[in-house]
Amino acid sequence: MAPVLRTRGAPRTAADLERALDHGRLTVRYQPVVDLRTGAVVAAEALARLTDGEGLVPPDVFIPLAERTGLIARIDLLVLEQALPQAAAWREQLPGRPFSIGVNLCVADLEPELPGTVRALADHHGVPYDALILELTETMLSESGRGHEQVLAALAGLGCNITLDDFGTGYSSLSHLRDFPVAGVKVDRQFVWDLDAGGRGADLARSLVRFGLDLGLHVVAEGIETRAQLVALQEAGCPFGQGFLFAPPLTAADLTAYLSRPAAVPQPRTAS
Ligand code: C2E
Ligand code: MG
Ligand code: MG
Repeated sequence: MAPVLRTRGAPRTAADLERALDHGRLTVRYQPVVDLRTGAVVAAEALARLTDGEGLVPPDVFIPLAERTGLIARIDLLVLEQALPQAAAWREQLPGRPFSIGVNLCVADLEPELPGTVRALADHHGVPYDALILELTETMLSESGRGHEQVLAALAGLGCNITLDDFGTGYSSLSHLRDFPVAGVKVDRQFVWDLDAGGRGADLARSLVRFGLDLGLHVVAEGIETRAQLVALQEAGCPFGQGFLFAPPLTAADLTAYLSRPAAVPQPRTAS
């Protein structure tokens, strides 16, 4: 049964959050990213949760507090420390197949030490740098000051895939694509959902996919919930996607089981 997502027991102050981290209450869920043509899982996105004994506290409840209090860098490091050994195990489970791991970063993470930390952790766990997807939202990059370009360039220089998350929702996507070494975009779920309604919103979603592909970027559609959205994305040539149609964020054990299932794309119903 799906775990209960709860906000009671959520940390309210920096001290609460710090105590939760000290007590090992940060846990990670993994959402598969699939090849939309074959249904094969090509990556997983690591998503932070806090356990509170009875359920899980979702990130939108504690990430803003973590960002305000500077604890976000500690959280993101803890996620990397859990996700990298997991990714190494899944790569072993899938010999000869590509499998990358995505983590979400924020501006506070973009310190000069970050490339060294990523490198040391990836080396320690035997994960190639190019199997790492580092997701940053456009809004965060807009707030980024000078110096972050060098950090991103160093990470890209290692081979890590810098990816613009929630693509299309910010105000400066185009300048980010020009100024930062971006390897991929994740089309925001709102655009994906607009595919159901047709019209201008759906045109925009298809254009965002084509735009990313024209720039030679990895394009992932987020939040795919319906077969109609999947078919529209396939028709637009969108190579990758994630969403509840395939799987919600899963425990590591559940993703291990999901990976051993035969790959299949949910098929649209044919008219009878
Ligand atoms: P995101 O990186 O855009 O992550 C995708 C979010 O969409 C996840 O929510 C996921 O559960 C949700 N989602 C995926 N498929 C569907 C779908 O088909 N329908 C719907 N309605 N939702 C879907 P989640 O896990 O609650 O994460 C929310 C946000 O919190 C993330 O958005 C990310 O910005 C942030 N976040 C999560 N974990 C971390 C972390 O470790 N570090 C940082 N800095 N931010 C994190
Ligand atoms: Mg993300
Ligand atoms: Mg997103």
